[in-house]
This record gives sequence, structure tokens and C-alpha cells, in this order.
Amino acid sequence: MFWNRAELACQEMVELVTDYLEGALTRSQRRRFEAHLAGCENCTEYLRQMRATIRLTGSLHAGDMTPAMREELTELYRRWRAEGD
Ligand SMILES: [Zn+2]
Repeated sequence: MFWNRAELACQEMVELVTDYLEGALTRSQRRRFEAHLAGCENCTEYLRQMRATIRLTGSLHAGDMTPAMREELTELYRRWRAEGD
């Protein structure tokens, strides 16, 4: 985590999204999360997908995210970023 940076990177959003959905972020973390969301289509879409998943499964906890899932998401963001450039 690099909280000293002004803006969150998409990869950090992936790390924080479950805490965000569970209301586990601090107020300042939440503010930065939402600031990033406001300017990032990819993360907005990601959050929408997470919410849809939660509706289907009933719940989602950080522990439910396997290392393989994290790896997959990280790769997804890498592709998005590459396309953006
Ligand atoms: Zn983003």
C-alpha cells in the first residue's frame, strides 16, 4: 500500500474493494477510493461486477478471494492500462 500517494492505483483498488463493500475502510481511505472511482471507468465497472457477485453469492469476504483470483484481476487491470495508453 502506498497511502502517501495522492491517488490510488487501480491495483490498489482491487486490494481495497472487499473492505470498501464491507464498510471496513477508514474515512480517508474511503474518500480516496471514491475519488478514484469517480475518474476511473474500469474500477467503476469492477465494483459493479463485485456487487453483482455479492448479490449472487450472498456475501463476499476478503478471504474468499483466492491468490489466483487476485492474480487474474491484476492481469485484467494490466491489460486495461495497456489499452488506455
Ligand atoms: Zn481504476
